[in-house]
Amino acid sequence: MSGSAASSAVVAGVDIGGTKTSGALVAADGAVLARATRDTPARRGGAAMAETAALLVEELADAAGVRPGAVGVGAAGVVDPRTGSIRAASDMFVDWAGFPLGARLRERLALEVRVENDVNAFLLGETAWGSGRGSDVLGVMLGTGVGGALVLDGRLRHGPHGAAGEIGHTPGYGELICTCGRTGHLETLASGTSIARRYASATGRPIASARTVAERARAGDLAAVRVFDEAGRAVALACVSAATLVDVPLAVVGGGVAAAWDLLAPSVAAILASDPPVSGAPLRVVPGTLRGDAVVLGAAALVSASDQSFSSTPFAEGELVRDVAS
Ligand SMILES: [Zn+2]
Repeated sequence: MSGSAASSAVVAGVDIGGTKTSGALVAADGAVLARATRDTPARRGGAAMAETAALLVEELADAAGVRPGAVGVGAAGVVDPRTGSIRAASDMFVDWAGFPLGARLRERLALEVRVENDVNAFLLGETAWGSGRGSDVLGVMLGTGVGGALVLDGRLRHGPHGAAGEIGHTPGYGELICTCGRTGHLETLASGTSIARRYASATGRPIASARTVAERARAGDLAAVRVFDEAGRAVALACVSAATLVDVPLAVVGGGVAAAWDLLAPSVAAILASDPPVSGAPLRVVPGTLRGDAVVLGAAALVSASDQSFSSTPFAEGELVRDVAS
């Protein structure tokens, strides 16, 4: 990054996912000045993953000729937002749980670094620059699994165990076994993985992905339509339950499955009409608009000068944390 001008108005956002690490330089108004993606070396351990993120930031700075004033990271796993360390992670990441990601990047880049869970970052992105603008918002991310996040009074809610908003692992949605080992969680109906699996078991036809199920639904395949109907119904019920409990008027749904919003929307609308929150105020459930950029932009929002309202509230050290794959 030598030779490039430092600008505190420009920050870097990095999204460390299971297969790809994406980064962008972001201006104060959310405009993306440069972007790049590398493979995540998830099998080579935390140090290799951190180095990939650092190289990405340097590459972006060189490409744009601007040194970012700070770096925000959205990372898979349970994150301690105070230190930026990874507290728990799924088995697909070698030596990730316990890795001091924030400290390593701070030392490596000599910049302020803040780290959040990737689903929290998604919601920060949508509240800052997407369809989730507001001070009280629920975020639901329908990807490989189902993640969730809460912004309350303009602040990300972490909870005493760092697991606030984990809506994917709430029970009451049937008899299927969840990835976490429990039964009937929202994730068993609404994740991309479960949509593909449920279509395959209904039709006897193995299928690669939820995207293919969506294509078949749009072509009139009734089994495919039914799987999306049930997913949308479950997501809407979960949103209504969460929104009723904490009185949020808006839920933003992101992740790859949200690209099939046309297929989810009918059953979502039906549930919102039949089961509105008791407050009498309508709950809006909308698709995210930042798509694949939501985590990167939310990570940038973590450290953006324009968005200090979304400061993190740390939770206590040493608390028991579930091993959650996000
Ligand atoms: Zn579960």
